[in-house]
Amino acid sequence: MIDSPCLTDDHHQLRELVHDFAEREIKPVARQLDLADEFPWENVKKMGALGFLGSTWPEELGGAGMDYLSYIILIEEMARVDASHAITVSAHTTLSTSPIMSFGTPEQQRRFVPLLASGTVLGGFGLTEPGAGSDAGGTRTAAVAKGDHYVLNGSKIWTTHAQWADWMFNLVRTDSGAKPQEGISFILVDMKTAGIRVEPIVTTDLPIPGSQEVNQVFYDDVKVPKENLIGEINKGWTYAKYLLSFERGNAYGPGLKRALNKLRKIAGQTDASGTSLFDDAAFRAKLDDLEIQISALEYVSHRPFAALRAVQRPGAEASMMNCRGTELQQAISEATVEASVYDGMPVQSDTFAVTNEPRPGPNYAAPVAPYYFNLRKASIYAGSNEIQRNIMAKAVLGL
Ligand SMILES: Cc1cc2nc3c(=O)[nH]c(=O)nc-3n(C[C@H](O)[C@H](O)[C@H](O)COP(=O)(O)OP(=O)(O)OC[C@H]3O[C@@H](n4cnc5c(N)ncnc54)[C@H](O)[C@@H]3O)c2cc1C
Repeated sequence: MIDSPCLTDDHHQLRELVHDFAEREIKPVARQLDLADEFPWENVKKMGALGFLGSTWPEELGGAGMDYLSYIILIEEMARVDASHAITVSAHTTLSTSPIMSFGTPEQQRRFVPLLASGTVLGGFGLTEPGAGSDAGGTRTAAVAKGDHYVLNGSKIWTTHAQWADWMFNLVRTDSGAKPQEGISFILVDMKTAGIRVEPIVTTDLPIPGSQEVNQVFYDDVKVPKENLIGEINKGWTYAKYLLSFERGNAYGPGLKRALNKLRKIAGQTDASGTSLFDDAAFRAKLDDLEIQISALEYVSHRPFAALRAVQRPGAEASMMNCRGTELQQAISEATVEASVYDGMPVQSDTFAVTNEPRPGPNYAAPVAPYYFNLRKASIYAGSNEIQRNIMAKAVLGL
């Protein structure tokens, strides 16, 4: 890990604390949780108690009162050991608690933030719909006022954690007569309310077939108290733009290094003639280039966040990190497929279960193709790379 000049003694101490936690509590269970498709509830409780789930929120609201860079360090140390834990903490912090911290009334902050910061409740985020993603103006899920509550009808798609979330923060249409980007609001929905159905989106690109990564959520005449509307009515478009500027993992370095180390191990395997890909000048150059790019990203990655406070908005530099980080993730996964040669070919693992035959090839090769396919998501979620480039074009180049 490259030592950043932005880090203070407090940041180094925090890194050590999170590093120890990750080694002690996450590393031993991560693989098993993945294989069993289980959520790390035990660790969520522990992380809540340590302040990891409310790192940047004020102490009087149950947070740990740290700066934004501390949050980035926290995610980096988790990602170094396990991507799932890192995503859990970042989605919970930026997409669930952030709307209330940034736009909620003081009363809403007092009511909701301590429960989220302690991990007593888990949050999810519902912006995307079958007809609305990059452009939230297409939001059709309707919240119609009726007495002291709203009645929700519609559907959200690709929602992470919806199968486990206690609350979902949804973008809903509150004025059907307004222009597409007006008349949208943010509302907190208790997932135990009658009329909610969560259906898994079954993907075939995960290392564990049948794992439930994302969902579609259906709202059918769901009654939500009016006091759960976050911030001002019909300001949802402005709020959504703000929230999307916090993407999930501005902490790419350690995860990339982990993936590159795996690639090195695979590339270093010798064949029957005693040679490996390290003997191939073109492949060596590819590894060098990846190393250079990851190091460059690490050198600059803390800078945009060093002066940022919890409820401030990261600038276009965050979009740059996002594009570079996700493209490197994909480039490493591509090179790993190349290094695994035919052992890394995608196979239908169910076939081998039926015929009771072992999967061909070494163990390291089994997840190579599934990870490659699964990582296509990296340049889509939290604002696609095309959208990130639009932001850069506008903010940096003035186009
Ligand atoms: C693993 C995963 C987890 C996710 N988790 C969540 C979640 O928890 N909550 C949630 O609400 N959503 C979630 N999403 C959805 C994600 O945010 C959207 O998929 C994403 O914003 C893109 O929206 P879309 O799928 O509707 O694609 P579209 O917006 O239809 O885009 C399709 C293509 O067109 C391009 N495009 C669109 N508009 C422009 C433009 N103006 N300029 C240039 N190119 C453009 C896009 O880049 C993309 O390539 C998740 C997605 C994935 C893959």
